[in-house]
Amino acid sequence: MNNNLVDVFIKLVQIDSVTGYEKKITDFLVSYLKGMVDIVKKDSYGNVYARIDGEGKPIFFASHMDTVEPGRGIKPKIKKGYIVSDGTTILGADNKVAIAGMLEIARLIKKSKVLHRPVEFLFTLSEEVGNYGAINFDYSMLRSKLGYCFDTSRPVGTIVDASPFYERFDIIIKGKAAHASLPEQANNVLFFLASLLKEVPLGQLDEDTILNIGVLQSGHVRNTIPGELTFKGEIRSFVESSLLHHKEIVLKKIHQLVKKYNMQIVCEFVRENPGYKHTDKESLRAIKNIEKKMSLCGLKPKIESVWGVSDANIFNERGLICFNLGDGTEHPHTTNERISISQLMTLARLMTQLIMP
Ligand SMILES: [Zn+2]
Repeated sequence: MNNNLVDVFIKLVQIDSVTGYEKKITDFLVSYLKGMVDIVKKDSYGNVYARIDGEGKPIFFASHMDTVEPGRGIKPKIKKGYIVSDGTTILGADNKVAIAGMLEIARLIKKSKVLHRPVEFLFTLSEEVGNYGAINFDYSMLRSKLGYCFDTSRPVGTIVDASPFYERFDIIIKGKAAHASLPEQANNVLFFLASLLKEVPLGQLDEDTILNIGVLQSGHVRNTIPGELTFKGEIRSFVESSLLHHKEIVLKKIHQLVKKYNMQIVCEFVRENPGYKHTDKESLRAIKNIEKKMSLCGLKPKIESVWGVSDANIFNERGLICFNLGDGTEHPHTTNERISISQLMTLARLMTQLIMP
């Protein structure tokens, strides 16, 4: 067993790095990599960047340093071939399996002096709440055009070839509140809600697009007719024009209902993530190469489009070609999160293959 890889991973998950509180891990990475790589530094946003010189075309690996809650005081343990938490917190394998793999690569290169490409590492902040580290990364440092994230909870050997465009919306509908005994003085937002749920479809809108309302809030006390309704949701689509098309239909319906019920609306749509589809020639060539490297690791490559978004969406929007690959984790963002030691080792083996010319 590769003890070093497991030890490093176990050390990493014990460094608390909940989104917004990542300083300890950024400091750790800088000091760990110092002397092992050719450059390591923080950019002005606080992301950590490192570079190892090599031969041929450079590639980058990116991983996010932040975790979700409950992610403080993680106590990892090994149980039947898996690394798990004690059940009161997440494990933080998302995305520390990738960080562990990257540190292992740095160590192997330093130790064995194997022939390898120039390798760049991007350790990003605040991925979980909107990819802010990747958005604010100092791209002037980056030399690679092609890179990899391992940030999708699928077996190692998975290649994500598409991820959706994503918009969130926050809408407030204002009617008029009144005491329960005075319905003639109220303009009840629940009537609006009933029509909304009847007229706006939820779930899968077409094969590329889904709509969800995840938060509904209205009313404060039992004996008041509610005068305000807040709902929050999202539209995702693999096809940008479909997202815009459905957004327009939904907005039109909502505005018609606002008019019908003589209410007011405050409405905000925000594009959170750009989508991507790896269909161009260069990307397809890169997929062939990844498949070859996976086969060398004894893996059966599997190509999948996923509904989730990650830093890879941002990198692809910036004109880089970035593949999000399966990280081998299970049940991320829950207290049952785990990674098998064999998947962790396979992940590091695949990373080692990817840096070979
Ligand atoms: Zn992640």
